[in-house]
Amino acid sequence: MNFDLHCHSNVSDGALPPAQVARRAARAGVEVWALTDHDQLGGLDEARAAARAESMRFVDGVEISVTWRGSTIHIVGLRIDPADPSLVAALERVRGGRVERARQMARDLQEAGVAGAFDGAMRHAEHAEMIARTHFARFLVEAGVVADMREAFRRFLVPGKPGYVPHQWAVLADAVHWIRAAGGQAVLAHPGRYGLSAGAMAALLEEFRAAGGEALEVVTGSHSSEQMRHFGALATRHQFAASRGSDFHGPEEGAEFGSLPPLDPALRPVWRDWAL
Ligand code: AMP
Ligand code: MN
Ligand code: MN
Ligand code: MN
Repeated sequence: MNFDLHCHSNVSDGALPPAQVARRAARAGVEVWALTDHDQLGGLDEARAAARAESMRFVDGVEISVTWRGSTIHIVGLRIDPADPSLVAALERVRGGRVERARQMARDLQEAGVAGAFDGAMRHAEHAEMIARTHFARFLVEAGVVADMREAFRRFLVPGKPGYVPHQWAVLADAVHWIRAAGGQAVLAHPGRYGLSAGAMAALLEEFRAAGGEALEVVTGSHSSEQMRHFGALATRHQFAASRGSDFHGPEEGAEFGSLPPLDPALRPVWRDWAL
């Protein structure tokens, strides 16, 4: 079966509404699909209905932003109960502060010679409270400051570059606990993206496991084939399950549904015990 367990709609920083994301996934051959918006559950009802109409199995998901040793780390929660009151309340707290941060990002960009970034980014955000770096990147492309999203995240919006404003997200163990308390499984998203040393990655994995983390995202649009092999081997060595997801955000914005290799059959998939 074709599993894609990581992607975004315009409820967070994706470009398309949940139903359109569902249609796109189905057309690309996805059979079991999770919507995992950042710190938001608001798209799940629409996504679930659209998935049903497309005859795809649907998995309720979320991607929680975490600050770990000064780095931003993402934890995907799969098969969470979207009505879980503690999860709902916790995510509302994690989301807080994005608008204020965006104002500071815009001031920073202004000093670097890029005017109008706050309003420009907000025009791309369906929900102001979810304003993200992605929306700023879309504005930078639209304004002709950069040629594409890749360049936006190379020249701006990342540590050391204009438009990056550090932010305090959730605590790692808290995020894993919220997911588990809501009946879900916690997956360390795109581990290859964090630029951690081998030692720091080992410490992260240890902390993640101690908190109740179950799986590593091995196959993701953020990983090279070399990184897929590397994190597959790490999952095996540390006895984590493995997950697969495109991290689709929008057309021509990185990985597409259906573009990723399958999970290595030697790995234990995060979905092994799911009744589908
Ligand atoms: P934020 O939650 O506002 O910090 O925005 C983070 C989002 O920016 C991520 O979820 C990605 O969608 C996007 N992002 C971060 N780094 C990159 C990158 N290097 N290339 C493309 N997108 C990125
Ligand atoms: Mn994103
Ligand atoms: Mn992520
Ligand atoms: Mn993501």
